[in-house]
Amino acid sequence: MSLDVLAIAAHPDDVEQTCGGTLIRMAEMGYRTGVLDLTAGDMGTRGSPEQRVAESEVAGQHMLLKWRGSLHFPDARLENTITARMTLAVKLRELKPRVVILPYWEARHPDHYRASEIGFEACFLAGLKKLDEYSEAHRPFKILYSSVYAEVKPSFIVDISAQFERRMTALLSYASQYGETIEGGTLFPSEQEIRERLGAVARFYGNLIGVRYGEPFVVKEAIQIDDIVTMPSRSI
Ligand SMILES: [Zn+2]
Repeated sequence: MSLDVLAIAAHPDDVEQTCGGTLIRMAEMGYRTGVLDLTAGDMGTRGSPEQRVAESEVAGQHMLLKWRGSLHFPDARLENTITARMTLAVKLRELKPRVVILPYWEARHPDHYRASEIGFEACFLAGLKKLDEYSEAHRPFKILYSSVYAEVKPSFIVDISAQFERRMTALLSYASQYGETIEGGTLFPSEQEIRERLGAVARFYGNLIGVRYGEPFVVKEAIQIDDIVTMPSRSI
């Protein structure tokens, strides 16, 4: 298996909210895309881990993924251990992605910033020849941080106007999470509410580059541009 793009996230349904539109757009362009969820979301209030993994498969089909898997690390208490890093590094050597998308390195949820840290360190380890004798060294070329929930200026934004509806369908595949029910006296957000919330966020980022919907990313290195004449996004 050799992927062009692999998104790594803490929980099933994370990528559907952060970089799913970009994954769909890349798949439509003919690239081989995949998602690796580090946990099965087993601490979530609603639904069982089996249910969420099954729902994530359906969501993956909507996102046109070539591959999706879960490492079943413990949800809500994700730890950056040597076992976690090594397990992920070996997976990266199998999947050989050129581009890896990680969550932004600062977040409210500890699992999200840990996933970012484990992901980055595993990308490094995966490139070491002597890591293990059974798998071939592979270091991803590019690491992008999905910054949709971070209050930082994006390095770039991907126009997902044509992919937004498909991404929404993928997210709503998690019926155990987004079906409207009353539990413990609290009404969980309805489909309409989710749609408006995610629409507003994607609209905000789209607006920054003059399109309808967008997904923001941060890269740590400077971006190289070869042709300044055809650069998109109007300055004034
Ligand atoms: Zn999450």
